[in-house]
Amino acid sequence: MAIREIVKVGDEVLRTKAKEVTEFNDSLGVLIDDMFDTMFKADGVGLAAPQIGILRRVCVVSVDGMTRYELVNPVILKAKGIQRGAEGCLSCPGRSGIVARPKKMTVQAQDRFGETKLYKVEGYAACAFSHEIDHLDGILFIDKIEQEEE
Ligand code: ZN
Repeated sequence: MAIREIVKVGDEVLRTKAKEVTEFNDSLGVLIDDMFDTMFKADGVGLAAPQIGILRRVCVVSVDGMTRYELVNPVILKAKGIQRGAEGCLSCPGRSGIVARPKKMTVQAQDRFGETKLYKVEGYAACAFSHEIDHLDGILFIDKIEQEEE
């Protein structure tokens, strides 16, 4: 368990497309555990590997602090509806704004063991999944802000 340093906006790594995970080994498990630790320490609800400088398609989400989603190579299979809410990002301190996200999503992802799982999420969880999966393609929420908040 270790807290990793969170990369901030302006760093190229946040704008680079992350590569698929092909090896499901112990170091992937350590990475995922470290990502949860780092996210909880920073009071976040999600964290993507590029945010700690690692260009792999891995993200973690926990919107209630209890249910932990680990998403390796996530793919959005279905997205329905639109919801708008205020967002922030651990990599963009001091920025906040309204972003449109899918209301419901079906996401397929692997876990640390390479097992394929299917997640049906809605509301805040869908927003968090969408935000984190965007990070894997170098997209930040500030690209999508419709209305900046103070
Ligand atoms: Zn973010």
